[in-house]
Amino acid sequence: MPAQIIDGKALAESVRAALRARVAALAARGVRPGLAAILAGADPASRVYVRNKVRACEDTGLHSEVHEFPEPVSEGELLQRIAKLNADPRIHGVLVQLPLPGELDANRVLAAIAPAKDADGFHAESLGALVQGRPGFVPGTPAGVMALLEHAGVPLAGRHAVIVGRSTIVGKPAALLLLQKDATVTICHSKTPDLAAVTRQADILVAAVGRAKLVTAGMVKPGACVIDVGINRGADGKLAGDVDFEAVKEIAGWITPVPGGVGPMTVAMLLVNTVKAAEQTLG
Ligand code: NDP
Repeated sequence: MPAQIIDGKALAESVRAALRARVAALAARGVRPGLAAILAGADPASRVYVRNKVRACEDTGLHSEVHEFPEPVSEGELLQRIAKLNADPRIHGVLVQLPLPGELDANRVLAAIAPAKDADGFHAESLGALVQGRPGFVPGTPAGVMALLEHAGVPLAGRHAVIVGRSTIVGKPAALLLLQKDATVTICHSKTPDLAAVTRQADILVAAVGRAKLVTAGMVKPGACVIDVGINRGADGKLAGDVDFEAVKEIAGWITPVPGGVGPMTVAMLLVNTVKAAEQTLG
């Protein structure tokens, strides 16, 4: 039986519908949640991501603003602007669109964001809270992955979750969140020998690499849940994930499509963090 396709677009829409009610409740108390995005350089993909975030804010009733810095841009300029946004009462979430151009040190720039406004959850304080199991802002993509798993009713406790990719923004936080749900977690990366032998053991397989069709049908255990985080643009301009969707959907129990899977959830969870930050200003 072909896999159940987990519809991230529909789930993101229902997350945003729930957020609209919280935005209305905040409006009644004189607060409109605001998100500021710092866009440094001219990476076309970053531009598209920021535009999608702005649209999602507009659609959900949040204020948003984009702070553009054409190259050449210095770390000092970014830090100065972040300090201003940290002090701006209309802004509840500040994000720095990654990757940063040139030699800019992303960790130093991210560290300048006030932890209370860390809508992306990439600040060391937010990541530390995640490691320690304290409440905090969880990065949008892994939070979206967890919401998709929960929505689809995929059992996690005691199951083997295999994550391919160990980045700080996807793979590592996804591993921590799955651990919190009592999954047994394996993280794979480019130095993992015989990747297929590991992925075939996965009850839950999360692909976060950035290589089209890296995960083939032969790498998937029948009935497994396959979450495709990858975004790859083909020569034809079309988006594809890291998973060979057509072949894997015949084997998996659940699968997320690209586009329409993790991507919309990432944006929805960013808005969740921004609204939460606004609510926290009211105590
Ligand atoms: P990174 O490039 O930071 O990390 C990629 C990871 O994949 C690394 O850990 C790397 O290993 C590993 N890797 C590379 N090649 C292989 C291989 N052949 N076998 C096994 N592992 C491999 O990427 P990100 O985590 O930032 O993003 C991953 C993908 O997810 C990208 O396509 C990105 O566009 C997408 N993405 C999607 C989002 C969404 O909203 N849907 C949000 C964020 C990202 P090593 O560490 O050894 O180099």
